[in-house]
Amino acid sequence: MSDIIPFVSQLDMHEEQEWIEALSAHLPDEKIIRFANLDNSEKLNAKIAIVANPNPKEISELSNLTWIHSVWAGVERLVSELGNQPFEIVRLIDPELARTMAEAVLAWSLYLHRDMPEYAQQQRQRIWRELPYSKMSDRTVGVLGLGTLGSASAQLLAEIGFNVIGWSRSQKQIDNVETRSGEAGLIDVVSKSDILVNLLPLTDQTRGLINTSVLEMLPEKAGFINFGRGAVVVTDDLIDALDRERMSHAVLDVFEQEPLQNDNPLWDHNSITVLPHISAPTNMETASEIVAENIVFYRKKGILPQTVNRQRGY
Ligand code: NAP
Repeated sequence: MSDIIPFVSQLDMHEEQEWIEALSAHLPDEKIIRFANLDNSEKLNAKIAIVANPNPKEISELSNLTWIHSVWAGVERLVSELGNQPFEIVRLIDPELARTMAEAVLAWSLYLHRDMPEYAQQQRQRIWRELPYSKMSDRTVGVLGLGTLGSASAQLLAEIGFNVIGWSRSQKQIDNVETRSGEAGLIDVVSKSDILVNLLPLTDQTRGLINTSVLEMLPEKAGFINFGRGAVVVTDDLIDALDRERMSHAVLDVFEQEPLQNDNPLWDHNSITVLPHISAPTNMETASEIVAENIVFYRKKGILPQTVNRQRGY
């Protein structure tokens, strides 16, 4: 029997139990225990923890950790709250999550492409009016961030028939997708994007990246989809561009503060669709399988899965 693996999260007891059952089904040789149920020696012996938005104070009580495996894909909180701890951070990289995100990006790109927000508005006003139609192949979707989620999304958009261009830190190669990197690359991507999709992680470099000077580079009446993180966008700058009708519509799934507060004006903005962080929910079944595979491999070979680069912040 291996050491105990603490499960550390701020989920409710029922959700924690569900996770532990799903993980244990794939890790029959491991004992996964809720942090709240650990005794002191178990805390000290733990080398690996599985986490879901953990309380940093609880993590600091596990003082001999070698690595933690998150069951979420985003890591900005782990990096900012636990970045100075000596253990490695592993995040969830799940093809099923990438498929789900690509599906969401496609759905909401089509929503903007086929003018659904405007037709909904027309219906409310009982207006019978045909808007000009553009072919998908005449519409460029720009994807910021070509990682696990961005590259799957860009690929699906291209397969369906959109003209797709993407941007990342290092240069990427994706079939049927034009790719760019660097500052000049950002300008090129944004200035061609009829629909701009953000799938960048939140880091020191990306915080506030999408601001007025970037939004002003978009083609007239461009649409925007933010499925990455809220703080990558300067919300006031986005609202200003929508109010001036410089941009047409924004679909926002992520916000600086979640849940979005009741009195936040974004809820009522005619040119904004608010989604409650649902574009790519973690699939407990596939996530548990992947976390389990990583742990089994580590136990056998002593090799860690790909870890988060703290300096880059993702
Ligand atoms: P990832 O695999 O780490 O990819 C991140 C991408 O962003 C990479 O292509 C990276 O470039 C690029 N990037 C990072 N910093 C950059 C910079 N300063 N300039 C240019 N490009 C930069 O992440 P992922 O798994 O695709 O996930 C992306 C984000 O989606 C997550 O961080 C999370 O915030 C968000 N997310 C949202 C949901 C939701 O339901 N809304 C669900 C899951 C995740 P390189 O390729 O060169 O490294």
